[in-house]
Amino acid sequence: MTPSDPAGFGTRAVHAGQRPDPSTGAIMTPVYQTSTYVQHAPDVHQGYDYARVGNPTRTALEQNLASLEGAAHGVAFASGVAGIDAILRRLRPGDHVVSTSDLYGGTYRLMRQVHEPMGVGFTFVDLASPDALAEAMTDATKLVWIETPTNPLLRIYDVEALAAVARERDVAVAVDNTFASPYLQRPLALGADLVLHSTTKYLGGHSDVIGGAVLTSDDGWAEHLRFQIKAVGAAPAPLDCFLLLRSTKTLHLRMERHCANARAVADFLRGHDAVARVLYPGFEDHPGHEVAARQMRDFGGMVSLVLADDTVETAVRFMQSTRLFSLAESLGGVESLVSHPASMTHGSIPADVRRAAGLPDGLVRLSVGVEDEGDLIADLNRALAALAEPALVG
Ligand code: PLP
Repeated sequence: MTPSDPAGFGTRAVHAGQRPDPSTGAIMTPVYQTSTYVQHAPDVHQGYDYARVGNPTRTALEQNLASLEGAAHGVAFASGVAGIDAILRRLRPGDHVVSTSDLYGGTYRLMRQVHEPMGVGFTFVDLASPDALAEAMTDATKLVWIETPTNPLLRIYDVEALAAVARERDVAVAVDNTFASPYLQRPLALGADLVLHSTTKYLGGHSDVIGGAVLTSDDGWAEHLRFQIKAVGAAPAPLDCFLLLRSTKTLHLRMERHCANARAVADFLRGHDAVARVLYPGFEDHPGHEVAARQMRDFGGMVSLVLADDTVETAVRFMQSTRLFSLAESLGGVESLVSHPASMTHGSIPADVRRAAGLPDGLVRLSVGVEDEGDLIADLNRALAALAEPALVG
């Protein structure tokens, strides 16, 4: 199936990139667990010469993900940050990047601690308006990095409007689409040049794989990314590609349930006295609601909240009181998770930078899974009720 294939999302999720194994008829693409491939003569082979460079299970995954994002090319990586690193490696000393100020802590760490020392400049801004982007760009700007919805504040950025500003100056736009998944949002159709996924999250969906992928329709970027896999070697393992391929077949079904559960959880939390603020783009008074309604199919499975007693201690007590929501990093799996960004996923961002970006120390992030809605709400209700009880000392 090609990017222009008219088949619906669910059909492409199940079939794109895959066909029954020609030698056995196996309906699932096998795990090609091999490091090398026998050649007929030196450099005469069937398209694969060495497994760091390519593997048929990986090819199937790359074609599947490319189809879901409407891209001509897909390149799979060993992790999401490996994919981000591969993108940034196209920049040279003196080049400049404008990035959203609220973003995954590991992306910030990679930019500031790995690529900045190599001479690339970064400016982190709230890209709420296209003017903010125009002001932040310099003659040296080569890339705009957009995360939307953002991790963990669930801010929404208008990809189409920002891409139009970048295009005027011939600057590439990359969108981290991890929080939305291609089922909810397709950045390439909105004018982005590159889409990054931590496939560890919704695409994997079962909390059992670390992976990443970059999707693009730009031949030059695709060549650069494939060269990075070959030269730097952050290639995903065949079994991980197989697990991801199995997962993407149900992406549309899982996302529907994640979204429905997240809405129910957000509505419940908003009505609870022990909760001061709920961040969820599905609320009509969320500042990004109108853009989210336009560029996303639904509002996603993530909900962040600030408790009425906004202290780290109370947030920790709350997170330790839930039973179905497990206290863990990561998101997008079928199991509901609760986390404390300031000390976990975003701990690598200095406290003053975090606060300046609007991230409260007591913020709690929920990845709402696909369990039964009533059970999830009962779990949160019990944990919130426990906050009213006196804390155990000692
Ligand atoms: N992008 C976002 C939005 C993330 O949340 C994460 C990880 O949490 C990453 C990228 C990095 O992905 P990985 O952990 O697969 O390297």
